[in-house]
Amino acid sequence: MGSPRICFSFDIDWAPEFMIDELAALMSEHARPFTVFCTHDSPATRRLLAVPGCETALHPNFLAAFGSDPSGADLHQREADVLDRLMASFPDARGVRNHALYYHSRLLALFHGRGVEYLSNDLRFLAADTQPYRDWSGLVRVPIYWEDDVHCVYFDGRFELDVVLPPESVGPAPAPAPLRVFNFHPVHVFLNTCDLSAYQRAKPHLHDRARAEHARHPGAGVATLLRALLAATPAAQCASVADVARDHAAAAPYRGRYPAYLARTGAVASPVEQPKQAAGDTPDAAPPTSEDP
Ligand SMILES: [Zn+2]
Repeated sequence: MGSPRICFSFDIDWAPEFMIDELAALMSEHARPFTVFCTHDSPATRRLLAVPGCETALHPNFLAAFGSDPSGADLHQREADVLDRLMASFPDARGVRNHALYYHSRLLALFHGRGVEYLSNDLRFLAADTQPYRDWSGLVRVPIYWEDDVHCVYFDGRFELDVVLPPESVGPAPAPAPLRVFNFHPVHVFLNTCDLSAYQRAKPHLHDRARAEHARHPGAGVATLLRALLAATPAAQCASVADVARDHAAAAPYRGRYPAYLARTGAVASPVEQPKQAAGDTPDAAPPTSEDP
């Protein structure tokens, strides 16, 4: 197998500001394209998004759309509200990955109605043949190849680079090159997580920087693996998730009629103008690190 095309992506997941700032410092050291899936607006998030090579994408928490109505009759409108509020903060974002990789097919109409270009929501853990594809609706899907928290439980403490990027992937690239979307969380990078049970024990205290620093894992973990990956992958081999999606969209034109169907039937709720939120005023935000990635 030849040299893969590599994407570094990060789901912010309401991480404390100092963790986001540390990630920004790390990515500033490496001139690599990367993609940040935002859960909320904040000063540290803006500093991370300002790092050269950073693509802004969205990480909506549709789990927050569940209400007390057992019929779920107005669920679609609440989901639209979740996405619209996030898009009001990041109007240029065109990529989406849902928190907890939540998904149902009715979200597709919502994404098409809001100009979303790609969905990076399928985890094909270490699947060597991973490639972008168009789904039946015409949306480009960019699957995730690897994720930090899944690695922790899958390998139970093993963090060598060749586990996630086998040596046979060095060499001339076949066409198309295999796709490797790596997904990290700032909290696991900061803690250099190795053991998810240790993370769970530390989680209630992670908003306290001193306690969070005390909880850092000293050996091999998520952060050492990220640094090894960054060192092993030349910038020319890396791309943002949006670049991958747009290249695939150009190479694989959509031949279906779903957008025309949506336009004819009015199946997409119109976006509602939302006032821009002040930093920290995030209706969908959970308290820092109160959610599992
Ligand atoms: Zn998440």
